[in-house]
Amino acid sequence: MSEMEIKIKEAPTCPHCKALMEKLDARHLDWGTHFLWVCFNNECNLFVRGWKQMEETVGQRASYRYMIAPDNGQNYALPWFGLEYMLKTAGLEEQCAPSDEE
Ligand SMILES: [Zn+2]
Repeated sequence: MSEMEIKIKEAPTCPHCKALMEKLDARHLDWGTHFLWVCFNNECNLFVRGWKQMEETVGQRASYRYMIAPDNGQNYALPWFGLEYMLKTAGLEEQCAPSDEE
């Protein structure tokens, strides 16, 4: 990765739940940044709604967390399968990995 400029240096506030966002180590993820700002509040509206939405759309037990890329300030809905899963994968492309659930 080449040098990047970090636009968002201070923890932003999640617009969905007003919680202070926290850094997620993203060096092993594929976002091109060293970290991402993520809302880790389990009661965040986006996160709570996400469980239902993901089950209906991809049939998986997963959700979204509100995320801001620190380098450009863009926000995303980060597919969320649990922290362990996130740290194990090299990127987020595996989100449609085959599951043995019917
Ligand atoms: Zn939130």
